[in-house]
This record gives sequence, structure tokens and C-alpha cells, in this order.
Amino acid sequence: MTQIKTDFLIIGSGIAGLTFALKVAEFGDVALVTKKGIMDSNTSQAQGGIASVFGKLDSFDLHIQDTLDSGDGLCNRDVVEMVVKNGPDRIRELIDLGVHFNLKEKSLSSAGSSDFEPDLDLGREGGHSQKRIVHAHDMTGREVERVLVDHVKDNHRIHLFENHIAIDLITISTRLKRGTITTTHEDYCCGAYVLDRQTNEVKTFCAKITLLATGGAGKVYLYTSNPDIATGDGIAMAYRAGATVANLEFVQFHPTCLYHPDAKNFLISEALRGEGAILVDASGLPFMEKYDPKKDLACRDVVARAIDAELKKSGADSVFLDISHKNSDFIKDRFPNLYQKCLTFGFDMTKEPLPVVPAAHYMCGGIATDMFGKTDLHRLYAIGETACTGLHGANRLASNSLIEALVYAHTAAQSAVKDIHTLDFGFTPDPPPWDEVGTTDSDEGIMVSQNWDEIRRFMWNYVGIVRSNKRLERAKRRIEIIQQEIRDYYWDFKVSADLIELRNIAMVAELIIKCAGHRKESRGLHYNIEFPHRDDQRWQKDTILRRSFLG
Ligand SMILES: Cc1cc2nc3c(=O)[nH]c(=O)nc-3n(C[C@H](O)[C@H](O)[C@H](O)COP(=O)(O)OP(=O)(O)OC[C@H]3O[C@@H](n4cnc5c(N)ncnc54)[C@H](O)[C@@H]3O)c2cc1C
Repeated sequence: MTQIKTDFLIIGSGIAGLTFALKVAEFGDVALVTKKGIMDSNTSQAQGGIASVFGKLDSFDLHIQDTLDSGDGLCNRDVVEMVVKNGPDRIRELIDLGVHFNLKEKSLSSAGSSDFEPDLDLGREGGHSQKRIVHAHDMTGREVERVLVDHVKDNHRIHLFENHIAIDLITISTRLKRGTITTTHEDYCCGAYVLDRQTNEVKTFCAKITLLATGGAGKVYLYTSNPDIATGDGIAMAYRAGATVANLEFVQFHPTCLYHPDAKNFLISEALRGEGAILVDASGLPFMEKYDPKKDLACRDVVARAIDAELKKSGADSVFLDISHKNSDFIKDRFPNLYQKCLTFGFDMTKEPLPVVPAAHYMCGGIATDMFGKTDLHRLYAIGETACTGLHGANRLASNSLIEALVYAHTAAQSAVKDIHTLDFGFTPDPPPWDEVGTTDSDEGIMVSQNWDEIRRFMWNYVGIVRSNKRLERAKRRIEIIQQEIRDYYWDFKVSADLIELRNIAMVAELIIKCAGHRKESRGLHYNIEFPHRDDQRWQKDTILRRSFLG
């Protein structure tokens, strides 16, 4: 049985995990586990950019207000202020590491001078009152990930474990000492069991501090912009271990994914509408003015529901996004990746509208944390998309997620380093090795694929953009049956990556259904036709779930 001991265990190699790794590596050894290749992440897919205040007409107050407006009454104002005000410094850190963001023309000529302060070219996206999207063409995430990965690979204190998928956190009950008072028994996290996908060995990672940076959960839904890694593993692991999760009913559906049988997960960035693209129906008629005064620049949830309504009304397979009225050189220069990718599917966006449909895109809820990314399970941190920090409230403002991950990687690293120096780790016992006594190799792989498909389809149909009590009840009945099947199967057979992910999407689906059923109003991304209005008196609060270990 392999046991790896380290100061910091980081699960996930997106922007959150990599940034945190670079910041803590100065103070201890780091084990960074990631379930596929290091670049496999939502981060690598991010196109639009990172929201931060650099514009001359912009201000922290405006960014704060836009974020609060989008969050529809559920943002934590202190968190919003903290993230917005820290944003520019975190972007400057990325530039110092070597990330190439687009610069304005005049700034390019002075790029060689020593007192160079880059004049960033800022894009604008839906819900933003100002241009504030820092971007690297339309491949911002890939550029950021590339630079962070290079630095991580160069750092001798960071030990990288690719193709290692975390199964569960390890928790140990201990007697905590607080000052001179010895308090009750409480659990703490001391690492994770991790499956090495190449050798099929389950390894025990023991750590003083564990960080979940496992990203989103788009794969819970049939249609999603997310890559295959986004199965909500962190949320499921944290919940099973006893940490609090919150606000999982707030799933953001991106309004515009390319509608094409081969274009799996291909997202058409919001930045396109920021640059003047308009949504039209099959006859070429714009329709957003019927739904919101901001028209095509309305918040994502409004646009996604508008498209959903248009599709249900017309019975069409898709609506269309048209930017062909803009200068074709401008389109090719501003959206080189999108332009090329669309061409491979047979669409020339400089000449014709693109067929688009909505898809599950971003999870606003997640593992509940404080301003330092600390969960309520001792020694466990969570940052990035897997966390629920209070920044997004009921609806994330476009491009606020990468900045949240950067800012929290910073505050969490500061806090975790302090923990390493102040907590007493002397009495940590070795956790028991992974126990697979009595299990055999699976002879029923069909159970995994059947339940995988079923969950994603009924989540799309019953717990999607528009919900109702009846649909949520149906979803609840189905997930209960599937959960029982998975439990029976899980303990009889050796674990595999597919089974681990199925167990996690089922867990996250159950939690989303519970949260959605609990909230008897419509707010932000959660829309229930039986309760179509926002009800501040009863529901201006987070939906909190914590596993009960009793009975
Ligand atoms: C198509 C697309 C476009 C987007 N565009 C933007 C944008 O323009 N601006 C913006 O702000 N946001 C955007 N987002 C959202 C943003 O990309 C994500 O919220 C952000 O990248 C999340 O970063 P992260 O580090 O938390 O997670 P990720 O980047 O998703 O990384 C998660 C990591 O955890 C690993 N992992 C997961 N489970 C396990 C496990 N069990 N064991 C081991 N490893 C595990 C994964 O393999 C991965 O390495 C976009 C998202 C998508 C999908």
C-alpha cells in the first residue's frame, strides 16, 4: 500500500489548484493530484476572460454593484468587495509570471520600457456596465493555464500526480485543544484516498492541509459546456466527509453553445454579444428585446430562459447568433479560435449566423467557505468553482469565476501557510489503508453507463432551466432509486474512475434536487414556475446542506 506524506495536498490542476500550489510551495512540500492530464480542466476552456477593474471609466464600486445586481440579493457584500478590490493585483501577478493578455495598440509600442504598466485591452460582457474583461484573444484560460503549468513543473517542491483521481477525503476524529480549554471531539481532514488510474492502486495521501480545487459539475446535465472532468467530485467528497455545502440550486446555463452533432461542449463566448452579436430566430428576427431592456447584453439567466422559451414556443432545435454584420477582419482578429473552430464545423461566422442552444455551464453553489477558503471541516480548504464563497449569490456575473479563483488561491494560501506554522500536527495518527477486502472486478459495467445517461437526462429535463414542483418530485424519486443501486454496487466491486465519477454525479444531482426543492421562490438562476417571483421575506438566505451522521 503506497502512502504519501506531504504538507499540502492539492486536488485539481485548474487555475485555483495551480495558483495555490505556487503560493504555498515556498513553505512546504506539495502533492498535486489531478485526475487526467494537468491541462484537463475547465480553466483551459475559458474563452472570454477575467473581470477586473482597469478601465479609466471603471471603478471598484461599479464592479461591486454589477456583481451584486447579478447575484440577485444573495451575494455576501464583504466577499464581493474583497474579490473586486484584490482583482487587479492578482492579474498583475499573472502578468509577472508571463501571461500574455491582449494590450491596446499604443501600449504595445512601450512594452519594452522598464516602467511599462500594461494598458490592457478590455472586453465587455453581459451584465457588466463597463469594459473590464482582461483577455488573451478568445483563449484566456488556455494561456493562463499554460503559464501556471510551466511554473508548477519547474518547482521542485511540487510533486505532480497526473491520472490520479481522488475517491474520498480521509477524516479523523481527534481531541482539539483550543487555548487552555480541551473541547469536544471533532473531525478533521488529513488527506485523501486516490486511485492511480494507470496501476489501479488506491494510494493514501496524508497531508497537514488538504485543498479541494476540483472545479465544476456540468456533467450532471445532458448538455454542458464543461469538459469531461467536471463531475462535481469535490462537492460530493466534501459532503460525504461532513462539510457544509450551499446554494446548489443555482446552476448557470450558458445561453450559447454551438448546436451541431459533432460540436460536443463547444461554447460560443458571451464576448461575441459584447462585441455586437445579436440573437435571432429562424426567420432572422431579433427577439431579446421582448425579454429584457438590456436586450442581447442581459444577464445570462435571462438570455438562457429567453432562448428556452423561444425554442419551446417554436419547436425549433436552435436559435441563431449573428455577428456577420461586423467587419470580417475584426471578427477574425478578436475571435481567432472561435472563428477557426466554427469553420471546422462548416460555419463561417463572418458571413452567416451560428445555430446555438443553452447548456449547463457553471455551478454557483458548492462547498461553503469563509473569506480564506476554509470549510467547516478542519484543515480542509476549497477554492475555485467547487467552492461557494458568497461572491456569486444566485447568479454569477460573467468572467467573475477566474478572478474569484485567483483571489481565493491567494487568501487561502496565506491562511494555510499560517496553519502550517501554528497548528499542532504532532499527534496525527496514520489513517487506515484503503480496504477492498471482499470486492471483485466489476462484471456489470452496464450499470455505470445506464445510470450515468439516466441521471444526466432527467436532470436536464426536470431540474434544468425551468423547474416545477412536479418535475423536482420526479427527479427526487429517480435519484433515490439510482443512489441505492450505486451504493449496493459500490461496496461489492473494485473502484474504477467511471464508478467514482458516477457516484459523484449522483451525489451532486441529489444535492441539487434537494436545494431546488427547498427554495420556494424564483431568484437568479433558480426558476420554478409554481413560485415565479422572488420572495425576500422568506428566502433571502443561502440553502445550506450538511450530512447527518446520526442513524
Ligand atoms: C467553456 C467554458 C468557458 C468559460 N469561460 C470563462 C470566462 O471567460 N471567464 C471566467 O471567469 N470563467 C469562465 N469559465 C468558468 C471557469 O473556466 C471555471 O469556473 C474555472 O476555470 C474553474 O477553475 P477551477 O480551478 O476551480 O477548476 P478547473 O479548472 O475545472 O480544474 C479542476 C481540476 O480538478 C481536477 N479534478 C476534478 N475532480 C478530481 C478528482 N476527483 N481527483 C483529482 N482531480 C480532480 C480536474 O481534472 C481539473 O484539473 C468558463 C468555463 C467553461 C467550461
